[in-house]
Amino acid sequence: MNTVRHYVSGDIWAGTSDRFGDVYNPATGAVTAQVALGGAAEVDRAVAAAKAAQPAWGATPPAKRAEIMFAFRGLLKSHVEELAEMLSSEHGKTLPDARGEMARGIEVVEFACGIPQLLKGEYSEGVASGVDSFAIRQPVGVVAGITPFNFPAMVPLWMYPVALACGNAFVLKPSERDPSVVLRIAGLLSEAGLPDGVFNVVNGDKEAVDAILDHPDIDAVSFVGSTAVGQYIYTRGTASGKRVQALCGAKNHLVVMPDADMGQVADALIGSAYGSAGERCMAVSVAVPVGEETADRLVDTLKPRVESLKVAPYTDPASEMGPVVTRQSLERIRGLIGEGIDAGADLVVDGRDIRLQGYEDGFFLGGCLFDRVTTDMSIYRQEIFGPVLSVVRAAGYEDALGMVNDHEYGNGAAIFTRDGDTARDFFTRAKIGMVGVNVPIPVPVAYHSFGGWKRSLFGDHYMHGMEGIRFNTRLKTMTTRWPEGIKEGAVFAFHAGSETKN
Ligand code: NAD
Repeated sequence: MNTVRHYVSGDIWAGTSDRFGDVYNPATGAVTAQVALGGAAEVDRAVAAAKAAQPAWGATPPAKRAEIMFAFRGLLKSHVEELAEMLSSEHGKTLPDARGEMARGIEVVEFACGIPQLLKGEYSEGVASGVDSFAIRQPVGVVAGITPFNFPAMVPLWMYPVALACGNAFVLKPSERDPSVVLRIAGLLSEAGLPDGVFNVVNGDKEAVDAILDHPDIDAVSFVGSTAVGQYIYTRGTASGKRVQALCGAKNHLVVMPDADMGQVADALIGSAYGSAGERCMAVSVAVPVGEETADRLVDTLKPRVESLKVAPYTDPASEMGPVVTRQSLERIRGLIGEGIDAGADLVVDGRDIRLQGYEDGFFLGGCLFDRVTTDMSIYRQEIFGPVLSVVRAAGYEDALGMVNDHEYGNGAAIFTRDGDTARDFFTRAKIGMVGVNVPIPVPVAYHSFGGWKRSLFGDHYMHGMEGIRFNTRLKTMTTRWPEGIKEGAVFAFHAGSETKN
């Protein structure tokens, strides 16, 4: 059986830890690989490689770093099918979804290709008599990334192309659930010309994470994952003096106004609530129709669509939704569905009894639709991270906005309406990081920045876009004054050796 190991100094490395985890094909429930679970020794070696490689890499001209990013982009594009297949087989998502994930990740590499322009500094001439000032951005040093299972290629790509382009070295700790794709991509980075040691991968679990958080030679940590873990990482990482950004859990609402186009709303909800089996931090998991009549129309429109969702393994080209990632996750989601029923919510579509011939041991769950969910229920308060949509009926627009704002998470939210005034009010007043108007999953493109509010993000910086540049660099400001009289007799050579006197 294949063992997924680490990647240090430009090569696969077995490590010294004797701990291993199982990697599954979620469609069959079979163990398909073992992943090495590294600890302090593996993190030490990867960080030492990164620390040794960073000064030369940081001193490499940005245009040269961009050249490597261009080559990397080309390699990613020519390997999309292989990478998509690899990640679907461990995550379970459909192939079109996996290709989409690769495309969104590649966008960040494209953004990083613009690094010479993005790193241009600021200059103020004459801030006082004879005094000039300028500001530049320098790499922070060694940056670590800790990433979740749900976008095994894309979320790491939110981080390291920007960090590397800024001149940092990087140590990535991917999810232990679907680690293979990252290791394959690490090989492509080397092939693109990245010097050995600049990018390293340590596979593992909490033990590796703790070693990262306490390591004195790691300067910054980017995390994406659940809120409980993110808060822990932010607290422990900042306590040891690191810069930390932790992007966390979500409960994204989609408000349906009475004037919304219901066909468009249903299309949006089917894609955003059930796509990737609901395992997206920008999945819509709560629909908030305004008014009883809107709610009835919404549920009537959604019900047959949820019932007819094609649930199948990624190898079936007709699949619209694959399994969830692990048996443990399946059991947790089923438990929450039970809590919803017990609390009095109306389970309009029950996907729990799905059986797929030949895939009886897979981690499949059919689409589930709850109506008449209330804000005190656990299915409303908690992130379910599965194919379960809750309809919470709101009496009016202000009630709907109140729900969005009172929820502990603030990653994304959307409103569907034809009324510009309502849309503008929603965008202005929502306590949410990413807002969509008639767009259900408002994920910013790579040259804008991704991040939430409230308990969906700990730290000060979003990911990629200019926020990514800020997180991955330190600002340095220089103020200069030259002694008077230097003009007389000073040599200001335009070309070396030209001896031009000013
Ligand atoms: P997770 O928090 O379980 O794991 C994330 C990472 O943390 C993994 O690398 C894992 O090995 C590590 N980890 C897990 N438990 C740990 C512990 N106790 N101590 C230290 N490290 C630990 O998250 P997941 O289940 O892989 O991913 C799903 C979660 O990620 C969801 O909550 C989802 O909303 C969130 N997510 C958020 C965003 C965002 O941008 N806000 C994007 C994608 C996913």
